[in-house]
Amino acid sequence: MANSKMESYQGRADDICDVLIVGGGFGGVFCEIELESHMKRAPKSARKPKVILVSEQNFLLFSPLLPEAASGTLEPRHCVTPIRQILRSTQLVSGRVTSINRDSKLATVTDVKGRTLVIGYQTLVLAPGSVPSIFPIPGLIEHAHGFKSLPDAIWLRNRLLAQLEAAESTHDPVQKRELLTFTFVGGGYAGIEALAELDSMSKEACAFYHNVSPSDFRWVMIEGTSSLLPGINEKLAKYSEVQLRKRGVEFHFNTRLVSCIDNVVVTDDGSISPYKSSTIIWTAGQRPSLLAKESRFQVDDRGKINVDEFMRVNGVEGVYAVGDCANVPDPDGGYCPGTAQHAMRQGRIAGRGVAADFGLAVRRPFNYRTRGLAVTLGKGVGTAQIFGKTYTGWVAWWMGRSYHLIMMPGIARRLQILGDWMVGMLFDRDLSELGDLGHPARLDEPVSKVFRMVRK
Ligand SMILES: Cc1cc2nc3c(=O)[nH]c(=O)nc-3n(C[C@H](O)[C@H](O)[C@H](O)COP(=O)(O)OP(=O)(O)OC[C@H]3O[C@@H](n4cnc5c(N)ncnc54)[C@H](O)[C@@H]3O)c2cc1C
Repeated sequence: MANSKMESYQGRADDICDVLIVGGGFGGVFCEIELESHMKRAPKSARKPKVILVSEQNFLLFSPLLPEAASGTLEPRHCVTPIRQILRSTQLVSGRVTSINRDSKLATVTDVKGRTLVIGYQTLVLAPGSVPSIFPIPGLIEHAHGFKSLPDAIWLRNRLLAQLEAAESTHDPVQKRELLTFTFVGGGYAGIEALAELDSMSKEACAFYHNVSPSDFRWVMIEGTSSLLPGINEKLAKYSEVQLRKRGVEFHFNTRLVSCIDNVVVTDDGSISPYKSSTIIWTAGQRPSLLAKESRFQVDDRGKINVDEFMRVNGVEGVYAVGDCANVPDPDGGYCPGTAQHAMRQGRIAGRGVAADFGLAVRRPFNYRTRGLAVTLGKGVGTAQIFGKTYTGWVAWWMGRSYHLIMMPGIARRLQILGDWMVGMLFDRDLSELGDLGHPARLDEPVSKVFRMVRK
């Protein structure tokens, strides 16, 4: 960094860097992987930029594998990769960027201990991803859960198992039905995969319960439009629906959730009587992180930052944006969808661009063309659309899994995933309910959660 710049930060910044990356997801991490690869190849005499990556977690979450973590076919730890073990020369700051002053090039960060620090930068890469879109629906915040993070997936698995345990010990059919009613709102990829995986798990689990059968469950999908899985071939969307209907899933299209106070689901479709659903999962869309908008970067009407084919933010020098928060021109026309496969390639293009800014690489435009989409619908069933061809059933399921395995960074992690899958094919699922994990009992409390519940 030029001396004059450093001096201008004196007294105002706790740390300074040449490149600040915000977000340790697909976009941010792959940007850094690319940048580091150019730094490694550069001659010894070349000046290497100091890079800081700020991320809320110290791991990269491989979200396409979340539904499998929720259904127990994959150990949750195996769908994340520790960022510190991917990056070599980059400094990782565990925390949240709360604001960016684009004029003075200062970012304010709240670290994991709640302390505030200010980081000065020369080049900025924005990759904070997206957050669930929520609407002012009565009861939504209090009673619905999202499906976006590892805790969400772990919670959902434990929730299903806890509901099964509770249902096993009741002989009241109404109470049992309520306990085993799962409603998913939003039939996109996350919603459909999570529902399908959980339903598949519940059917296997029932074999180990005496007082619960698959017909005791009620699985409901509420979707605001007339079809599922936006962007996928129509035939495949229909196939997914038919497969799930055969398994007993109810679909309500062109329907909106209007209230879920006390877990009573009310929709705008008068033909669906309000019903009690002990578990409500909200997967009705994502919106870009508000960080860019709040930091006065120009965004479109969806809140995404407009960038060019090199991932440079329009009209602001030295700022890049990638992934779900960015509006990236698609080489086939229009704008790229918010997917991991796009975010990681956009990250690489931004990383190369930043390397080019420091004379370490030649800039390249984004020219990735979507290769395909794959959806898992539970053990052994899926749909896939690859290079324009469509596949269904076991082949599609395996294709989707293989693609995710190849894209997962790190050989050790890939082997662990492969191991989980092989064990899952040969043996029954693990039905241990571990909802107490991360909530150790106080020394003076009984260890068992059941006793703690009885006391309440
Ligand atoms: C359940 C689920 C299944 C999915 N399945 C697929 C799939 O099969 N195929 C596919 O291609 N895509 C899939 N996606 C979409 C894909 O995960 C996203 O498109 C992708 O993660 C976007 O990458 P990103 O880097 O923009 O954001 P993310 O990967 O979400 O990363 C953003 C990171 O930034 C951090 N962050 C946010 N704000 C701040 C801040 N202010 N300061 C510091 N850090 C911050 C976040 O904690 C996060 O770690 C799925 C998504 C979900 C939720």
